[in-house]
Amino acid sequence: MAEIIDGKNLAKNIRLELTAEVQELKKKGIIPKLAVIMVGEDKASKVYVKNKSKACEEIGIEYEEYILEENISMESLLELIDKLNNREDVDAILLQSPIPKHLDINLAFQKITPEKDVDGFNPINVGKLSLNQDCFVSCTPYGIIKMLDQYKIEIEGKNAVIIGRSNIVGKPLIQCLLNRNATVTICHSKTKNLKEYTKNADILIVAIGKPKYITEDMVKDNVVIIDVGINRTDNGLVGDVDFEGVSKKVSYITPVPGGVGPMTVAMLMNNVIKATKNRKLK
Ligand code: NAD
Repeated sequence: MAEIIDGKNLAKNIRLELTAEVQELKKKGIIPKLAVIMVGEDKASKVYVKNKSKACEEIGIEYEEYILEENISMESLLELIDKLNNREDVDAILLQSPIPKHLDINLAFQKITPEKDVDGFNPINVGKLSLNQDCFVSCTPYGIIKMLDQYKIEIEGKNAVIIGRSNIVGKPLIQCLLNRNATVTICHSKTKNLKEYTKNADILIVAIGKPKYITEDMVKDNVVIIDVGINRTDNGLVGDVDFEGVSKKVSYITPVPGGVGPMTVAMLMNNVIKATKNRKLK
């Protein structure tokens, strides 16, 4: 029987633990603060940013939001990041992606000081992750590992297949899974015979952004499926996996919504508190 991984409930428990931690910090006069920058009016980003601000409010993290004009210059964006880098009261900085095409997102991530880079996109944090050193791990991969651990799903020695090679999900996941001794395969849009790889997966993680793309015939019995996809369809939000068909064969599966999404936000909150403690408890 398939067990559904309840990301919503796991995330709620993490938020409760973090709330208690923030209360302890406040007794010491320390108040964590997250600054979020959003450029333009991307509809999905607005929802994600709203979820992040709600989580901050619930946990007791101070929250500042900067919504910049679509046509802002790179120089002005870097100036804002620099200002936030230098603000003593700001512990954590997040630049919501995507940003408009005329801006260089890599340069912007590089500008965020590694100590406040709670999304783990600064090259210093990316490099440290690949060296298995303490760092900020980007929130979606971090949340996925946490979910596997909470459900006591073994990672070591397993064939972990990732579909999707984005900088925010697929690539950091390679390192997270390697650091836990999985045998990792990464597939992408140019991969030939995808099914050959998916059929071989003990743990299959899908992050491609194509509704119900992974079907029952593509997976083996007892696979663990982590569905990262968030696709808005006429029938509401669906993942990259055809949940109905595939769930008949799996041992564990995440639902969409209520799987990876809430864990991503919870791990962001975790990283904000980590940044605060690193900066203010030393
Ligand atoms: P992206 O859109 O940047 O890239 C998609 C990746 O999928 C690319 O690497 C591409 O090579 C690969 N791909 C596309 N079609 C493919 C195919 N037919 N076969 C194999 N590979 C294919 O990816 P992203 O930003 O990582 O987002 C992927 C999905 O995950 C989206 O639906 C996004 O909304 C969702 N997402 C969810 C969370 C969350 O917290 N739940 C976080 C980030 C992204």
